[in-house]
Amino acid sequence: MCGIVAYIGEKEAYPIVIKGLKRLEYRGYDSAGIALLDNGKINQYKRQGKVANLEEFALGKNCKGHAGIGHTRWATHGAPNDVNAHPHSSTDGRITLIHNGIIENYDSLREELISRGYKFQSETDTEVLVHLIDDIQKNEKVSIAEAVRLALHSVVGAYAIVVLSEDNPNQLVAARKSSPLVVGIGNEGDFYLASDATPIVEYTNQVVYLEDEEIAVVDLNEGLKIFSIGNQEVTPYIQELEMQLEALEKGGYEHFMLKEIYEQPRSITDCFRGRLNATEGWVSLGGVKDYEQKMVNAQRIIMVACGTSWHACLVGEYLFEDLARINVEVEYASEFRYRNPIINENGVLKYLIEKRV
Ligand code: GLU
Repeated sequence: MCGIVAYIGEKEAYPIVIKGLKRLEYRGYDSAGIALLDNGKINQYKRQGKVANLEEFALGKNCKGHAGIGHTRWATHGAPNDVNAHPHSSTDGRITLIHNGIIENYDSLREELISRGYKFQSETDTEVLVHLIDDIQKNEKVSIAEAVRLALHSVVGAYAIVVLSEDNPNQLVAARKSSPLVVGIGNEGDFYLASDATPIVEYTNQVVYLEDEEIAVVDLNEGLKIFSIGNQEVTPYIQELEMQLEALEKGGYEHFMLKEIYEQPRSITDCFRGRLNATEGWVSLGGVKDYEQKMVNAQRIIMVACGTSWHACLVGEYLFEDLARINVEVEYASEFRYRNPIINENGVLKYLIEKRV
């Protein structure tokens, strides 16, 4: 699942953000990216795959900066690749943002922005947000925080976002709806933001959990301010985290296994968010979308997986056979790579191999 980590303060942001992203790796993701503000300019690095790939890519490049935002993406819109990885930037590179969640009305927003001359680099729903904020800021001549607030009025969907702007080097703007976001208040006038508290707890135990439709502005001169999307100032409710990292990672449970058992309803809800809408009857899975038609026409599907995903595939096998009446085989990935499988034009795995392996 996607993750967010951001920092602003006296320290170097890069190691804090990278370490935080690694703490969130357990959630699973397909690509990672980071943006750092150094000397009034944003430098941005994005890579498909693990955070380690991102680190390798950033090696030797300018990773300085006292403000930084980092993201691990789990694609809903657009393939998992370098371009679609977050952050996403305004055309002039002045504003950049990371986003967890899904913008349901991205299509109409995108068309409107294209008609106003905006060019899109990625296939993501997220990119509409940054152009929208940029557009509002330019036209309304408002602050970045106000532009974020106004932009969110046009957005239908789920989001946790953090915005970094060259015009406000001392500030990060964050907001959330249906996707968690925590603000950590550092001991040195600095601030941490993350999608859960695990990347924050080693630096501070003073945290504020943002509520739905709240916007947080962390400013090195003015501190933390929170507004509702309706522009009411909200007094931050600062909580003291009593748990140490290990306990926090275990979510207060005695063992990881217990945590995982009790977390199942939430994990399933989180997985479905923005990807499945039972009321409207649609499913949107980023990594699978491009192969949708081929899957519909397939006569045989081979699911290749390991460990937990192998067990999930066994469930999938039952469901596919029962609902779609398509032959399904589930194979161990570790064994499959040494085989010479018989795959023909009508098998779905063929396409996955060609495009993705
Ligand atoms: N919907 C966004 C995308 O596909 C964000 C996905 C995520 O939450 O990582 O890029």
